[in-house]
Amino acid sequence: MSRPLIDLGDGIYMADLMERGLSGRTGCYIIPGPRNTVIETGGSVSLPQWTDGLRQAGISPDRVDYIIVTHIHLDHAGGAGSLVRLCPRARVVVHPRGARHLADPGRLIAGARAVYGDRLEELFGVVLPVPADRILAVEHGASLDLGDRTLNFYHTPGHAKHHVSIFDSGGRGIFTGDTAGIRYHKELTGLEQDYILPTTTPTDFDPKATHESVELLRSLNPAKVYHGHFGVSTDVERVFRETERLVDAFAHLTENVYRPNMTWQEMAGHLKSFVLDDMKQTVGLPKDDTVLDADMDLNAMGLLHWLQTR
Ligand SMILES: [Zn+2]
Repeated sequence: MSRPLIDLGDGIYMADLMERGLSGRTGCYIIPGPRNTVIETGGSVSLPQWTDGLRQAGISPDRVDYIIVTHIHLDHAGGAGSLVRLCPRARVVVHPRGARHLADPGRLIAGARAVYGDRLEELFGVVLPVPADRILAVEHGASLDLGDRTLNFYHTPGHAKHHVSIFDSGGRGIFTGDTAGIRYHKELTGLEQDYILPTTTPTDFDPKATHESVELLRSLNPAKVYHGHFGVSTDVERVFRETERLVDAFAHLTENVYRPNMTWQEMAGHLKSFVLDDMKQTVGLPKDDTVLDADMDLNAMGLLHWLQTR
């Protein structure tokens, strides 16, 4: 089931990609204009939601110019190979470190398989290669002229080494993918105030790089943060501050509770206790704390990987 397109102002729209059947989890951003642009694809299982969002925005697939992915994790870029087949003139815009993995997704799929196991196809669908001549790799500081606005690209590691954030001159907002936290909003938690949860998934999580990237994002003085998950924050300084605070807290927690042979399930238990306690002290407890579980599992895997390989 698809949902109505969400008008975020500044000529930017969001379609809910219904990742894992959940509303309010993962979105793509649609920017209609002289060069029609979409940011993020989700997995190929989200193709119906993606194309329905385009339809609601009045854009036919053959008029899409750019499909931008903030990074190549499957919940952001898994559908890119399927979508370029649907959008004959679109080019896929990606970090240079991600480009060859979109063209030849074998390693990308193997990495995701290690995390998701047999559930990979059910969660994200098939991952098709993107033809190399349809890929546009963007260096740090590169810009893309959309005719009525300019997008500027910045390499922002911390969550992934192949991550870009994208500053929009139109509304002075920045698309941060997974660099500046997941936004747990009211629809998910029942709480009035958002909770910003850094995502520390394997295998690139790096607290120091996260700090440097957040400092860069802050220096751009954006008016809005568009999260990969989910929607927009206007209190951008709070987003940056909470990302910094919790990245440090997660790193310290991992150092404190770690012992050899610890399983990721044990680590996820420690992390969930910490997060619930932190939520209680800051925004309140969620109506159903199982909403956190998928992120607790992925974060725990990434935190253990970071500690064991740093
Ligand atoms: Zn993500």
